[in-house]
Amino acid sequence: MSVLNFKNPDWYDEEDINIFRDAAYNFYKNEMAPHSESFRKNKVVDRKFWNQAGAMGLLCPTMPEEYGGVGGDYRLEMIVMEELERAEVDGFGLSLHNAIVAPYILHYGTEEQKQKWLPKMATGEFVGAIAMTEPGTGSDLQSVKTSAKKDGNGWVINGSKTFITNGGTANLIIVVADTGGEGKHSKSLFVVETDDLEGFRRGRILDKVGGEAQDTAELFFDDMKVPADSLLGPEPGMGFIQLMQELPQERLNIAVQGVANMEKALRHTIEYVKERKAFGRRILDFQNTQFELAELKTIATVAKTFTYDCAEKHLRGELDTVTASMAKYWVTDKECEIMDRCLQLFGGYGFMNEYPIARQWRASRVQRIYGGTNEIMKVLISRSL
Ligand SMILES: Cc1cc2nc3c(=O)[nH]c(=O)nc-3n(C[C@H](O)[C@H](O)[C@H](O)COP(=O)(O)OP(=O)(O)OC[C@H]3O[C@@H](n4cnc5c(N)ncnc54)[C@H](O)[C@@H]3O)c2cc1C
Repeated sequence: MSVLNFKNPDWYDEEDINIFRDAAYNFYKNEMAPHSESFRKNKVVDRKFWNQAGAMGLLCPTMPEEYGGVGGDYRLEMIVMEELERAEVDGFGLSLHNAIVAPYILHYGTEEQKQKWLPKMATGEFVGAIAMTEPGTGSDLQSVKTSAKKDGNGWVINGSKTFITNGGTANLIIVVADTGGEGKHSKSLFVVETDDLEGFRRGRILDKVGGEAQDTAELFFDDMKVPADSLLGPEPGMGFIQLMQELPQERLNIAVQGVANMEKALRHTIEYVKERKAFGRRILDFQNTQFELAELKTIATVAKTFTYDCAEKHLRGELDTVTASMAKYWVTDKECEIMDRCLQLFGGYGFMNEYPIARQWRASRVQRIYGGTNEIMKVLISRSL
């Protein structure tokens, strides 16, 4: 199945898209995958790969060309994510940089802000992150305590964030802060250039159950002074609304990654059960194995069909929060089910970290937690009923 069945803008055809897909895959597989072990050991992907990805056109592929991007549409973001999974590279936080951070700047930044940040995000000079979650609050974003107070011509930010993807590397961080005001109008987004910034400090790279190559980190802001033009949007108090508007794409990204992960697990499992023998037969020859794989392939196909339908809606500008929440919750629930059932077919080897299925099983668990937990997705869906 291919997302390329969706024919939209005519600036490129399927052949161009396939060239982009092959280039992405070859870069990940040939340049990055051989270093996977060291990424995991160091809990971070080497900084140089960001610049190399930029040179390959894999950073900001959907940003307009005048801001250094490729000027493509969401299909290219899907390819960037899908091929990363297919090439078996862990921990490279491209999708967050490309398909979450950059769109905030494109959609809410002034012309000067876009010119200032996006071209450097496209080259990898800036690596993006978004810092919403705090030690005391995650799901309930209205309770964010990090504060930003007016100070002369700029702002002073105080507080701390945790679980921040790309947090060990990022030098352009969108910070959610309280700027006073009532309820939904109390939050603002600040785009913070962190290089040599006084008052900015990184904490630990966190030790996680899975996805150990990703530099998920703590961040601290102690009287961190940022210029007036760090504020994203025309006035303070727009942060919560901006976050809500961007969430459908964030949730769709997670579903796209979930589907790619399912396909990868099935591929590994099918290979394994064809090789491994028990009771004089291949594991594949047991009817239980065949039925398991038939069911899992069906689930993966339904998940992909729904996710691609959401992607087509998104390409038409019609993906609503509720449908995106359904995709995020359902696909990631099923992703974890597939990981677990695939791992079972590996027997004891499935529990050994040297087998990719074990790492996938561990890494997939967070998909139900970040980007809004699956419970929060259900809260949003049920509100619409
Ligand atoms: C690996 C990783 C990467 C992350 N990356 C980022 C990042 O880049 N930027 C960022 O800002 N954050 C990031 N996060 C944080 C993530 O988004 C939060 O962990 C998540 O939103 C949940 O918040 P919490 O951990 O505070 O859990 P809590 O909000 O404390 O929730 C605890 C439990 O209560 C449930 N719950 C809460 N409210 C309700 C409700 N109303 N109804 C029913 N159940 C409810 C939750 O579903 C959950 O099961 C990341 C987290 C991880 C683990």
